Amino acid sequence: MAEYDYDVLIIGSGPGGYVAAIRAAQLGLKVACIEGRETLGGTCLNVGCIPSKAMLHASEYFDAAANGAMAKMGVIVTPKLDLPAMHAQRLDAVKQLTGGIEFLFKKNKVDWIKGYGRFTAADTVDVAGKSYRAKNIVIATGSSVTPLPGVTVDQKVVVDSTGALELAKVPKKMVVIGGGVIGLELGSVWRRLGADVLVVEFLDQLLPGMDMDIRKEAAKIFKKQGMTLKLGTKVTGVAVKGSTATLTLEPAAGGAAETLDADCVLVSIGRRPNTEGLGLDAIGLVPNARGQIEIGHDFRTAIPGVWAIGDVVPGPMLAHKAEDEGIAVAEYIAGQTGIVNHAVIPGVVYTWPEIAGVGLTEDQAREQGEIKVGKFPMLGNSRAKTNHEPDGFVKVIADARTDRVLGVWAIASVAGTMIAEACVAMEFGATSEDIAYTCHAHPTHSEAMKEAAMGVMGKPIHI
Ligand code: FAD
Ligand code: NAD
Repeated sequence: MAEYDYDVLIIGSGPGGYVAAIRAAQLGLKVACIEGRETLGGTCLNVGCIPSKAMLHASEYFDAAANGAMAKMGVIVTPKLDLPAMHAQRLDAVKQLTGGIEFLFKKNKVDWIKGYGRFTAADTVDVAGKSYRAKNIVIATGSSVTPLPGVTVDQKVVVDSTGALELAKVPKKMVVIGGGVIGLELGSVWRRLGADVLVVEFLDQLLPGMDMDIRKEAAKIFKKQGMTLKLGTKVTGVAVKGSTATLTLEPAAGGAAETLDADCVLVSIGRRPNTEGLGLDAIGLVPNARGQIEIGHDFRTAIPGVWAIGDVVPGPMLAHKAEDEGIAVAEYIAGQTGIVNHAVIPGVVYTWPEIAGVGLTEDQAREQGEIKVGKFPMLGNSRAKTNHEPDGFVKVIADARTDRVLGVWAIASVAGTMIAEACVAMEFGATSEDIAYTCHAHPTHSEAMKEAAMGVMGKPIHI
């Protein structure tokens, strides 16, 4: 028997873990991936990115039919909701994609060890009573929903994101606790399908971490769509009686409390890293104050041979960030140099319109020095106008001295796709002039990116 069972043992098969496993196998290493869920793909494929986008996409069609957007283009339909069918197409997407990872594991000769893993030594993990030894172990255990103290998620009246994906009927009144990405995406789904949605956000604007212009514009758009926003307000309690929840709300700055009733409450106040039950104490690895596993630039933890990536380490909790770290950690383990540019990780909110950004916000950029900003409204973009998509803008932030692009922010129907151009430009150290003098196809939404870049020098054409 060889001294080690594997060159690399990966704990968790989310976008971080499964990508690391495949890349390590491609590099000639003997690899196994431990997964406790019934299917591969982690939060992202099972209860995150994929099922939420399936519901967002389907509900967007329903909304377009119901809110008159289709009628405006001469298509008169009265939509009828078949919620079981909508859920079925969500489950089908999940099944196909999680099955796809299983196929890729077989193709790349990655062993799937089924069960939850627990360290017993720095090179040994126990799964269902069996020990596996490996030269390298990658922690890719991801994250779970942060609970709200004193509030019990029963997945019936009070749900988390997983419960909110699966509601068997459209709530009459849904209160969303937390105006972040999950609250706005899943709140949008149920608003479009007919729920009266109220979002309670502790801060005085939605979407913390994004550019302030974007946060303000997003709030205007969601209000126009019929969402009620209660900003600067915190939920301090939720009491459930039968099928009704009574929430207690308090102004974040202090003041009198108020109560309101709802038949569905979504708790979406963030996610926390999964380290419980992992046996980190057995190897002397101590998470930081936020529960994250600290790593060096090469994804090594403080324990030799133990690496960590994805939601369990500091940084934005995003699938594409986890995937890129998965590739990089495998390359380091194989003796190569893996590279992830953490300054250029895009973020996208898949609402209608989409909200996207990469790099510094205007406030962050200003703190670093003098900047120039170009902004172009989607109203001035011929394709958006033709498609009846007047909301949003593109904003390019550049260094005033070097013209190098520092950040790009967009609200547009296809902002999530448009932002890729900004990522490539920033990876190559582009100036706003580089974007402005690049030919963009007409008529496309991406011309708004070019015009915003032209705006940095003060010379857009169509506004
Ligand atoms: P995860 O995907 O969380 O996977 C970790 C896996 O490890 C899990 O399957 C878990 O079962 C397993 N595991 C944990 N502990 C053990 C153990 N001890 N032994 C064995 N297995 C273990 N991000 C985006 O970029 N775009 C989106 O559109 C997006 N939408 C989202 C929507 C929702 C509703 C949610 C909840 C999240 C969304 N995210 C999105 C975030 C994204 O899902 C995460 O950032 C991503 O999944 C993190 O990948 P990961 O590999 O680090 O961990
Ligand atoms: P979040 O951090 O995006 O938003 C949580 C919000 O809840 C914050 O705005 C916070 O101020 C607010 N909040 C906290 N306590 C509160 C209280 N008591 N009352 C009212 N408001 C309160 O978290 P999330 O939306 O739960 O998402 C979790 C993670 O999942 C995010 O890090 C995100 O990156 C990831 N995710 C990404 C996508 C995407 O990329 N499209 C989609 C879904 C989730």
